Amino acid sequence: MSALYQQIAKRAKELEADTARFLGDMVRVPSFSGKEKEVCQVIMREMEAAGFDEVRLDGLGSVVGRIGSGPRVIAFDAHIDTVYPGDLSLWKSDPFSGRVEDGKVWGRGSSDQEGGMASMVAAGRIIKELGLNKDFTIYFTGTVMEEDCDGLCWKYLINEEKIRPEMVVITEPTSLNIYRGHRGRMEMQVKVGGLSCHGSAPERGDNAIYKISRIALEIEKLHERLLTDPFLGKGSVCVSQVFFTGPSQCAVPDSATISLDRRLTWGETKESAVAEVKDAAARAGYPDAEVTILEYAEAAYTGLTYPMEKYYPTWVTPENSPYIQDAVHAYEGALGRKPLVDKWTFSTNAVSIAGMEKIPCIGLGPGHENQAHAPNEHCPVDHLSAAAGFYAAFVARLNGKA
Ligand SMILES: [Zn+2]
Repeated sequence: MSALYQQIAKRAKELEADTARFLGDMVRVPSFSGKEKEVCQVIMREMEAAGFDEVRLDGLGSVVGRIGSGPRVIAFDAHIDTVYPGDLSLWKSDPFSGRVEDGKVWGRGSSDQEGGMASMVAAGRIIKELGLNKDFTIYFTGTVMEEDCDGLCWKYLINEEKIRPEMVVITEPTSLNIYRGHRGRMEMQVKVGGLSCHGSAPERGDNAIYKISRIALEIEKLHERLLTDPFLGKGSVCVSQVFFTGPSQCAVPDSATISLDRRLTWGETKESAVAEVKDAAARAGYPDAEVTILEYAEAAYTGLTYPMEKYYPTWVTPENSPYIQDAVHAYEGALGRKPLVDKWTFSTNAVSIAGMEKIPCIGLGPGHENQAHAPNEHCPVDHLSAAAGFYAAFVARLNGKA
């Protein structure tokens, strides 16, 4: 192991308690999607104190920190919005305590994924202190609205802020493994019309609920036919919601709609997924059923609305990618063991970065994926220093210093 890697790991460990303190500071400021303004201020102050070269907000309100101004561009990304705590009776203590106890930081957002943000800022400090960067402009983004529309923030950064890195490290929780892909997803609806009439004489009408029910049962069969990929696993589809319209409880309904949660494995696209659902509707006897992809169009806390279709493409970075190889080298150097290279179950901002824009992504983050959106969420404190050490070591490696 190179002496530089050892020096990085030692410094990350020295900063560990302060990194946990910063994570607690973020957890104590609730930051639900679209309501991230205050936590962004906390993060900006921390980046400034760590010696970042530039710290600003973009139009959607994401924090954009920068170190270096070299010709090559990379980025580290953490989304800094969280989901709601859910049923408070399931929490053993305040979801926003941010307390450090039993070697863990506790509270909503600790694993998903303000822990990644805390480790990124510690890494930035180490990169500056040890002079690890030479060739790169390195962005450290604390991005908004991921929980509601993954990838939207980066669609904005790439297309509107013109930040186009050669690769991005996603810092969502990986239990300190290196991840290189996940399934994509899309949100669709299927709608059929009917003819309403008095419920006492249903033969006069055309019942839209019966029609959508037959389509729903075809969706159940469609799920069984979907592709399996050896790395990402099986594509899936399920009916997640059902809606109807009609004049009264004593009437035949005149329209019915189902929502679909579709997970896309390797080789499945928006076009293929829509065609399969149209085919399922035709098999049910309703080739004219209307299939739509939903749109996300909520306002950011800055007031800006930046609409996006709810199609989140599948992505995989090949195992033989030089970025994966550099990541493995840096990991072994800074953490002193071989990493597991694997994939996420959930979806991340890489859907737009890698899935849409074809910018290679790799993932490593503190905390565990099974803590995401769960009560009593926590993040191990030693993960924070390990991830910070890895990020700094990866930068050293890309600069040819280790
Ligand atoms: Zn997340």
